[in-house]
Amino acid sequence: MKVIQHKSELSKLTAEAKDNGATIGFVPTMGALHEGHLSLIRQALAESDLVVVSIFVNPTQFDKPEDLDKYPVNQQEDIKKLQTLDKNLIVFTPFTREIYENGLETEEFDLGAVADKMEGKFRKGHFDGVATVLKKLFDIVHPDKAFFGEKDYQQLLIVKKLVTLLQLPITVIGCSISRQKGGLARSSRNRRLDKRQQKEALLLYHSLQRAGEQYDKKSIRSLKDEIEEDFKNHPDLKLDYFEIVDAATLDSVDQIENNKKYRAFIAAYIDGVRLIDNLALN
Ligand code: AMP
Repeated sequence: MKVIQHKSELSKLTAEAKDNGATIGFVPTMGALHEGHLSLIRQALAESDLVVVSIFVNPTQFDKPEDLDKYPVNQQEDIKKLQTLDKNLIVFTPFTREIYENGLETEEFDLGAVADKMEGKFRKGHFDGVATVLKKLFDIVHPDKAFFGEKDYQQLLIVKKLVTLLQLPITVIGCSISRQKGGLARSSRNRRLDKRQQKEALLLYHSLQRAGEQYDKKSIRSLKDEIEEDFKNHPDLKLDYFEIVDAATLDSVDQIENNKKYRAFIAAYIDGVRLIDNLALN
């Protein structure tokens, strides 16, 4: 495993590997690595000759400065975890000034209606920040395949849109959600929760499961009302949104049709820590 800090060195290395016929897989992360990240990296290693994992906390995708300040950083520990994986791994740990040479500017992209809902609505500018950094990282790494978690399903659709928009020769691959025992989706933010809070946070997953059991048995409106009510009755949890949507467009639905795929999405705060999760319903 190699750790590289400078983008010119990384670009040179991936270009040489590609000249030699290697396929490059790319897994962008913000560090504080957990089993969810490692599952993406294992899939990337299985489907590519050489894998680049970036560890970069991207300032432009945070809508709240305090969220950026509190984001867990532990590069030493991250690198130790990656050392257990494979020797065909390159870890890219750039400084912010090397990625944002001209200051922290966010580029605006026409990401379409998918970007305006849920996370786009509740975290203004978030997806433009994500797209800004990914455009830069793709331009450094030149991957053949890029791996993203379904944990951030809306982001996954947006990355696919970005790649089409920029006409990049990259296949975007979605990877399934890794969960803790009990069902809580793994997240770097879980580190900010103690045992009691993690137990309470299970209401997110349980709400999604309930949607999976009931979405075609009762009206979507009453299902949403019941879940919103559950959160109102819980003093430590604050619901941002619970939505049942068309999995392709992310449009909210109030009636289920045959031959369509649906997904439930949830975002809530527990004692100030914001968690998101989603589940395929059919
Ligand atoms: P992050 O470091 O949070 O930006 O995440 C980096 C990548 O890991 C993104 O593609 C996430 O969707 C993915 N990821 C994060 N948590 C999970 C999880 N629990 N299961 C699967 N993928 C995940």
